[in-house]
Amino acid sequence: HAKNNGKNQIVKYEDAFESISAENYELLKHMRFALEQNELYLHFQPQINVHSKHVVGVEALLRWKHNDQLISPAQFIPLAEQTRLIIPIGEFVLKEAFKLAEDFYKSNTSIVVAVNISAVQLKWDFLFAQVMRLKQVYTFPNAFIEFEVTESLLITNEDEAIDVIKELKRMGFLITIDDFGTGYASLSYLKRFPFERIKIDRNFIKDYPQTDDGSIAKLIINLAKNLNIEIVAEGIETLDQLEFLKQHDCNIIQGFYFSKPLSKEDLFAYIHKLSLSNT
Ligand code: C2E
Ligand code: MG
Ligand code: MG
Ligand code: MG
Repeated sequence: HAKNNGKNQIVKYEDAFESISAENYELLKHMRFALEQNELYLHFQPQINVHSKHVVGVEALLRWKHNDQLISPAQFIPLAEQTRLIIPIGEFVLKEAFKLAEDFYKSNTSIVVAVNISAVQLKWDFLFAQVMRLKQVYTFPNAFIEFEVTESLLITNEDEAIDVIKELKRMGFLITIDDFGTGYASLSYLKRFPFERIKIDRNFIKDYPQTDDGSIAKLIINLAKNLNIEIVAEGIETLDQLEFLKQHDCNIIQGFYFSKPLSKEDLFAYIHKLSLSNT
């Protein structure tokens, strides 16, 4: 199988098909054209500060509608990574996210737009240059964009990917560890890397209080507090969960309890509605 010997080695598109099921092979055929056929778009899920009750961020989440059917990112993102289609698709995501960040900046709202970046993108030689090039046409400060990288990236010892994260951070972009607690990263990584935020994975909260007492969530929140890192909880669906997190000083919440991921139009309406109910 294609091994990553050289830095600039290109994996042939066909090679990526080796271990792919018939169903996914079918999907891949269509994914190659999804961009040009305008089948891809973003939804945005609000992140709420539970004290101010304001939207403080939104996470950009990719959607793919093919023949009137929605295909889950959990299914197509791994395929896009395997075939490196995530590079052009990721560029589309960046462009759309930057557009929204510019909207927020120009309308005097300080809402951060979070973008998921896959390890494949981070290991690609030109991500940093791509980000800087796409950013050029906009005026918003870089802190309006947050990059979410998964914890698993940290344990792979991919120094070049880590360097890109550090460079982005140096340029003022915010960096968050996504799905924290699922990747078995040792705690020392948290000290080594300059993250603004940790997102607790939904798994540590989804069964609270039925079959989970929240002890792991509490542990992660305390760890973040001690390291002075902001903590975000995702996948919050119930009032019980919300109260539990508030009680333990986790103040930024993302989940169906507040809102599902929304189209841009619905997002603007949601932000407007929330600001009215705050006054
Ligand atoms: P993620 O980054 O951890 O995103 C959070 C996922 O949790 C989203 O799933 C979101 O819809 C879902 N979620 C949020 N609140 C709740 C809740 O209260 N209950 C439940 N059950 N789910 C909730 P989604 O949109 O299906 O995305 C799945 C994964 O696909 C993302 O996980 C991310 O890893 C990946 N992904 C999505 N968009 C992109 C993208 O533009 N680029 C990359 N590289 N990956 C992406
Ligand atoms: Mg994410
Ligand atoms: Mg996550
Ligand atoms: Mg996840």
